[in-house]
Amino acid sequence: AKNRGRGRYHFFTEELNKRVQDSISLDKNMRKALENDEYQLHYQPKIDIKSGTIVGAEALIRWVSPTQGSIAPDVFISLAEENGFINELGWWVLQDAIRQHTLWKNKGIDISISINVSAKQLLGDNFIDQFKKLLDDNEVDPGKIDIEITEYLFLQHSEENSKILHELHDYGVKISLDDFGTGYSSLSYLKRFPIDNLKIDKAFIDDYDSKRGSIFVDTIVKMGQTLNMKVIAEGVEHKEQVEYLSKIGCDQYQGYYFSRALNADDFETLFLEQSH
Ligand code: C2E
Ligand code: CA
Ligand code: CA
Ligand code: CA
Repeated sequence: AKNRGRGRYHFFTEELNKRVQDSISLDKNMRKALENDEYQLHYQPKIDIKSGTIVGAEALIRWVSPTQGSIAPDVFISLAEENGFINELGWWVLQDAIRQHTLWKNKGIDISISINVSAKQLLGDNFIDQFKKLLDDNEVDPGKIDIEITEYLFLQHSEENSKILHELHDYGVKISLDDFGTGYSSLSYLKRFPIDNLKIDKAFIDDYDSKRGSIFVDTIVKMGQTLNMKVIAEGVEHKEQVEYLSKIGCDQYQGYYFSRALNADDFETLFLEQSH
């Protein structure tokens, strides 16, 4: 116990060192994983609250490593954003989501697909041209594709962002603002940017049954709808939450209450079951 302070210091340096080593090897492995086909998209249903049916799916990336098992995106997406790999990885996500969308459309499963696009990727070289070409080549109806962005996008490059979002929107693609309410930018961007859907962050949905919490959820739903947006609740885990959201007229929800993100086959099975 005498050398506690010093021991702790050693512990921290080792810990830090280990973290640096880990992130270097993660960096390398992440890139290798793309070559080795270790990424998969899973799909979480988006439910229309009035009808209770699946109207869309959000594509969520999974890294299934043969040595480490399934690695959650929270672990590698932020690193990929820092080291620039997100451009390559994000392009793979777009291509794979469009491939799946086309496959489903040809089977009569005509739902919209939501794709998470990081700000860095959206602002990267040629995003719009590549993306439009991908949709054109596959004869995809742009109205069935929904790009999910976060408020971080509005922190910088506001002119350029605005131009890109308007171009996407004019082309017919839908724009969703993800994790709404957790960022720090001002509300004025809701006026300046072409946003079709607002996704209320899970933190607000968790707290729907407190007095303050319900005021936030109510207000966001009203505000979004007044601005002609659809409002989607994220992270819905209980029946009572769905009932509440239905009562206040929220448009859609996602969450474990209905289903987690599923691999494409399981999603398809679930979709076909519920549409009968
Ligand atoms: P997100 O876009 O906010 O996605 C929602 C996350 O909440 C997903 O975690 C989803 O599985 C989880 N979730 C959904 N319903 C519930 C629920 O009822 N309860 C709880 N506790 N969680 C729920 P996931 O798949 O681990 O993704 C985490 C984040 O990683 C995403 O947050 C998104 O920011 C990022 N991400 C995932 N896939 C991609 C991608 O393809 N590209 C980019 N740029 N980011 C991605
Ligand atoms: Ca999302
Ligand atoms: Ca979200
Ligand atoms: Ca999130």
